Amino acid sequence: KISIFWFRRDLRLEDNIGLYHALQSDYPVLPIFIFDKDILENLPKDDARVSFIFNQLESMRNTLQEAVESSLALYHGIPQEIFKSLLEDYEVQAVYTNHDYEPYATERDTKIQDYLKDNNVEFHSYKDQVIFEKGDVLKDDGDPYVVYTPYKTKWKSIFDSKKDLKTYNTKKYFKNFIAHSRLPNLSLSDMGFETSKIKVPNYTASAKVIQNYEDTRNYPAIENGTSHLGPHLRFGTVSIREITKRAISEKNEVFWSELIWREFFMQILWHFPNTTKNAFRAKYDRIEWRNNEAEFEKWKNGETGYALVDAGMRELNTTGYMHNRVRMLVASFLCKHLLIDWRWGEAYFAEKLLDFDLSANVGNWQWAAGSGVDAAPYFRIFNPMTQIDKFDKQKEYINKWVTDLQELTYPDKMVDHKMARERCLKTYKEALS
Ligand code: FAD
Repeated sequence: KISIFWFRRDLRLEDNIGLYHALQSDYPVLPIFIFDKDILENLPKDDARVSFIFNQLESMRNTLQEAVESSLALYHGIPQEIFKSLLEDYEVQAVYTNHDYEPYATERDTKIQDYLKDNNVEFHSYKDQVIFEKGDVLKDDGDPYVVYTPYKTKWKSIFDSKKDLKTYNTKKYFKNFIAHSRLPNLSLSDMGFETSKIKVPNYTASAKVIQNYEDTRNYPAIENGTSHLGPHLRFGTVSIREITKRAISEKNEVFWSELIWREFFMQILWHFPNTTKNAFRAKYDRIEWRNNEAEFEKWKNGETGYALVDAGMRELNTTGYMHNRVRMLVASFLCKHLLIDWRWGEAYFAEKLLDFDLSANVGNWQWAAGSGVDAAPYFRIFNPMTQIDKFDKQKEYINKWVTDLQELTYPDKMVDHKMARERCLKTYKEALS
């Protein structure tokens, strides 16, 4: 008999709660990862996130090979079908995994759990990618929080560092992995993919970066002014407990607050899954978006004629990353200056961002459009010129990404700021009154 550990958004061998429990079961553990055909089907063949996942699995495979002559089984298919064939090949006692909260994932997991139950296989899933999940942080009356500050206050009031930041020492139990070095392997090309030119950078959450975070985080020109943890938290190549420990030991409240924003949006998606499609504030779905396709193209390509907006979009298109300050500006520009539906922008970011996470992306886009939880009032419209004076005064960031700024070919501003501002106010007002 064996146990299976199923990796998903937790691609690391250490301090992984579900894996820790699997290794303590009474049976040898077969670690698996399934490249889900349904997800892969919609991605470009050189998707950088697929390459990142692949490389990370490869490195985990090597670690297991060296440590205990074990391996990691890779599959490509529909998860339910893969489990069916695993049950034919092995006598499986239990499947262990960590919770995945997105709507697609919860539906998938329910089906698999039912299937396993019908076959007398246990299914154990654990909280691992967050400190607090789902209904952990609720108002006294049991309702979810929809405003960040009281959520954070409650989060901190129930937080117990001893319990919530416990390290799960999996290494001690590595010998419980199944002894087998020839488990099914795959290459990217087996799945019709190729290695991406875009690489996920290592994160830079050093003591220095965290200590200086307040002073540096708003300036996109500063290298390592933020942590670049995004994709690592998204795919679990680092443990949130480890990062929270660092935030606390460097005593940086602002950095810690950002990690709590992540959990805030995750619980919003959990309680309000329809916010991926509908405005959180229903009235905002009455806005008459202009949705001009040609203007959307200009925005996507960084050809709006507004230098900071264009710099951001070009950074995104080239690297799969965009600085948070600039994300806020380009999102506001799309929704408010161009009156293009936030859902279009959200979908474009989902395609491009290495750190794409449904809850954070939808939450932040709805925030930018004014329709979301805890959103800024709609009449606060970023001015794309004064944002430069505030956050890129020396134009270092702009000059890095908009190298044609001084050339005749650089486009004129696609809309007049004053006109666009007034048009936005009028359109929003009509919809909301
Ligand atoms: P740091 O500033 O070093 O922050 C550390 C970590 O805190 C981040 O990695 C992230 O996990 C979390 N965090 C920080 N800010 C936020 C926030 N506003 N909301 C949620 N979590 C946050 N973040 C994503 O992780 N995925 C997305 O798909 C995403 N889409 C966004 C779309 C828009 C329109 C905007 C305005 C923001 C979006 N963000 C998203 C939030 C934020 O921009 C990124 O988390 C951040 O820029 C990533 O860089 P970093 O890791 O260096 O962040």
